[in-house]
Amino acid sequence: MKKITGVNILDDQIEEKLNTRNIFQIFNNFIIPLISKEEQEFLEELEDFLLKKVEPRIDLNKDVYELFPLLGEGDYIQRLNQFGNVNKFGMRYEILLAMATSIIDPELDLARVVSGVIFANPLFQHGRGDHIQNILNEIMSGEKIGAICITERQHGSDAVNMQTSIEEYEDYLVLNGEKVYTTNGSKADYFVVYGVSNKHDPRGSMYQLLIDREFAGIETNRLGIQSIPRVEVSQTIFNSVKVPKEYIIGKQGIGYRNLFSGLVAERDAIIGSSLGISWLTAITALIYTNLRTQFGKPLYDFQAVSFPITQLFTELMAATELGFKSATEYKKTLKYEDQKFIKYNAAFSSGTKFLASNLAQRISYETQQLCGGIAFTDNMRIDKALEVAKVQEIIGGARNIQLYLVSRGIKDIVKRLAL
Ligand SMILES: Cc1cc2nc3c(=O)[nH]c(=O)nc-3n(C[C@H](O)[C@H](O)[C@H](O)COP(=O)(O)OP(=O)(O)OC[C@H]3O[C@@H](n4cnc5c(N)ncnc54)[C@H](O)[C@@H]3O)c2cc1C
Repeated sequence: MKKITGVNILDDQIEEKLNTRNIFQIFNNFIIPLISKEEQEFLEELEDFLLKKVEPRIDLNKDVYELFPLLGEGDYIQRLNQFGNVNKFGMRYEILLAMATSIIDPELDLARVVSGVIFANPLFQHGRGDHIQNILNEIMSGEKIGAICITERQHGSDAVNMQTSIEEYEDYLVLNGEKVYTTNGSKADYFVVYGVSNKHDPRGSMYQLLIDREFAGIETNRLGIQSIPRVEVSQTIFNSVKVPKEYIIGKQGIGYRNLFSGLVAERDAIIGSSLGISWLTAITALIYTNLRTQFGKPLYDFQAVSFPITQLFTELMAATELGFKSATEYKKTLKYEDQKFIKYNAAFSSGTKFLASNLAQRISYETQQLCGGIAFTDNMRIDKALEVAKVQEIIGGARNIQLYLVSRGIKDIVKRLAL
């Protein structure tokens, strides 16, 4: 991996030990007891692939998108849905993929999850026709990139009351509006976009459309998000974009249903990325503090260093168990008829996303302080991970919104018991 600009001041012997192979080895010690034999085989193959094929090509001076085709070669753009000849898929595999990819490059994983899961999952779930299959082929190869457009300048957490408008005519639709914070936006070839035909009835009139960059009237302008310089996040403007009807993924009203059921997959995938960031920084700190000496002994021999690290590991082990549980439960959301599980999973995935993304930020911040100055340089991956963790906490819904969904779920139980 190429460093950014700074000089290397990391002790040679520590640098030698602080490689990704060792980080994966320690990670596997914690993860393998939690997963099946098949999942273990998948994880080990994936780690080998990332170490040999992807990591040598990571250049922190370049956007992450050049690495997408490499992930595509290994069928690692996503593992939530079945695609091609792959037989190991599902949310638990997706979480393993997100964890391992975040360990080698958290920015790469952020952009991958948006294209491979958050953009592509609606196509897998609701898209029909050869053109959808062709687009999925392009996205899964990593040659093309997808983005999702929900958030608007005036409507963030209050996403339902969106202003983006859709007019439906006999043979086509017309899309007008501005979306903001579109991850991958300025690089994207395709967008999944939500808009409404009646602003006073967004639930009943929301559409979910697939938009091809080639359609006339699309403009993307990059936003200056300083924490993730290798990922392009944009303002996306749709100026009277004429959309053929076969590009409707969710028709009037169904768009709302698809938006909310899709958010569970989105949150679960982000949980995987947040856990990956947490394991990366926790293990880095564990190795470093065992090797770095001050006052004649390793930092880890001071309880003021080892106890906080141990506490973070304890919390991380619990969050990882919860993340796998949330992934196992995901399949229960796939049948819309099963409303009881849909509601339960909306709350469960929100609570777990709240915990995991907050923990990633906290572990990265705390381990940076515990390792000292070196963790602020690009000689270690902690500072980069901390920046991405901040984004993970807001993307997919700010933390209050996750808590809001959990609180609504809890209230529902009380209501059902008529207390
Ligand atoms: C780097 C980045 C990438 C992103 N990528 C995408 C993307 O690809 N696609 C996309 O559509 N969106 C994306 N987002 C948008 C993200 O989902 C929103 O930023 C998020 O939903 C919050 O909306 P907002 O920024 O408008 O904040 P606001 O909604 O204005 O919220 C501001 C604060 O108020 C709190 N708040 C709001 N309402 C309530 C309430 N009812 N109760 C309690 N607290 C409340 C929030 O929790 C938050 O702390 C991205 C954002 C960032 C920063």
